[in-house]
Amino acid sequence: MVHNVIIIGSGPAGYTAALYTARADLKPIMFAGLQPGGQLMITTDVENYPGFPDGIMGPEMMDLFRRQVERFGVEIHQEQVTKVDLTERPFKVYVENEKYEAHALIITTGASAKWIGLESEFVYGGFGVSACATCDGFFFRNREVIVVGGGDTAMEEANYLTRHASKVYLVHRRHEFRASKIMQDRVLANPKVEVLYNTAIDEILGETSPKRVTGVRLVSTVTGELREMPISGVFIAIGHQPNSELFRGVLDMDSVGYILTLPGTTKTNIPGVFAAGDVADSVYRQAVSAAGTGCMAAIDAERFLESEEHR
Ligand code: NAP
Repeated sequence: MVHNVIIIGSGPAGYTAALYTARADLKPIMFAGLQPGGQLMITTDVENYPGFPDGIMGPEMMDLFRRQVERFGVEIHQEQVTKVDLTERPFKVYVENEKYEAHALIITTGASAKWIGLESEFVYGGFGVSACATCDGFFFRNREVIVVGGGDTAMEEANYLTRHASKVYLVHRRHEFRASKIMQDRVLANPKVEVLYNTAIDEILGETSPKRVTGVRLVSTVTGELREMPISGVFIAIGHQPNSELFRGVLDMDSVGYILTLPGTTKTNIPGVFAAGDVADSVYRQAVSAAGTGCMAAIDAERFLESEEHR
């Protein structure tokens, strides 16, 4: 069976594309991926999505998105796509050896947290090193932790962690944050947060049995001076990497891996393949902008299918 549309990814962009294509009677199928619901599943309060005057928790919001598409009969596969073949139509999407075919493809695979690149991050990952305060903050009750980064994510993580930790050091490599003013102000007004500007993590220190983080070696980004500091947890909040590996070498991308789309559309370099949300957005990266481009992708796909008379 050849589907009209396959949607890969299940964040705000994917769900919105699913909603629109389902209501256009295109009977889309969706692959939810490794992290169904996307990055909002690891977010706390969402205060900037219109329509929720009191804010809403990220996972609760994604549950609403999912229920809304299910109402229109979208078939959601809780699976991770492992390969695609976009060389000819219908496009082929594989989950291991299982093949699915579609006349149009909407890619909404989002982005994932970035790591600094220290081997110790991986050694202690899950044992004191994390990229998700809402997932792991609870384990650091009354302990001291570090958050690395200077953007909105770092501000949010630092603030959230003060609910659990006795103290949060916010380590940033420059002398000023990149975060929005409102988020910075909240952090700077929080008595449990101490900011260490012009500082980076040189190494994460720990013990192997039992495996745990015991401290960090910090480096001044101005003088190069090193110093060690005892700490129980390290939260990396330095941005995100687009999840576009499946399409590398096939779809046009920028140097970071964001999928390039024709300006003002969600069209990629392959007709019938559309990209929306964070995987194609290095600039805005908001839930509401992802939802907006998900809607655009659905309309672009619908028009493509009409023009190709695949329906
Ligand atoms: P970001 O804005 O790209 O900030 C990343 C931060 O990490 C920067 O301060 C950067 O330092 C630092 N950094 C990057 N690589 C590093 C490395 N290897 N070592 C040390 N530091 C490093 O990423 P983000 O904070 O994840 O935010 C992404 C987008 O999501 C933004 O548009 C943001 O507004 C949005 N967002 C919004 C909210 C909200 O409104 N509630 C919450 C979270 C995120 P430099 O500044 O020196 O480059």
